[in-house]
Amino acid sequence: MADVEAEISYPLEVVYCGYCTMQPELCEYGPEYEKCKDWLQENFPDMFESMMSLNDGDAEGGEKKKKQKRGGKGVLKTKKKAEPQTITIRRQQRNKKKTVTIIKGLVTHGIELPAAAKRFSQKFSCGSSVTGEDEIIIQGDVTDDLIDLLEEKYKINEEFIEDLGMKK
Ligand SMILES: [Zn+2]
Repeated sequence: MADVEAEISYPLEVVYCGYCTMQPELCEYGPEYEKCKDWLQENFPDMFESMMSLNDGDAEGGEKKKKQKRGGKGVLKTKKKAEPQTITIRRQQRNKKKTVTIIKGLVTHGIELPAAAKRFSQKFSCGSSVTGEDEIIIQGDVTDDLIDLLEEKYKINEEFIEDLGMKK
């Protein structure tokens, strides 16, 4: 099986708002922008923050909304370490129907997070975004497929992968 997908750089993933189904850039033209924003913040915090900071620029009086700040998280940066560390995968229930898969520790294996997030999106047909210095959150429970992918495509030895299970 030809592995053509590996080296292609994909265009940025297309995200559709879970509330109004438009692309988030267009949500502000929808009737329920506040609810769209809540959805986006919940599901794609990175995108939410970048959209909010874009909006800061053209705040002229009335429209300016409260800006959500997250304490102490800092700028998203990748840093390389010599020692590969255990990659942890856990699931988290976001609400009754929705589970996300949270993966940490990729950076120490020399994996670029933005590229990996993009790849996960493509591979699992779901949203995926970099949410921390060494953290990616994938929408849905994709643990098994994720472990396969790490082993097969990223050549991560299974001893470096730990499934932490479901966390509340
Ligand atoms: Zn929307």
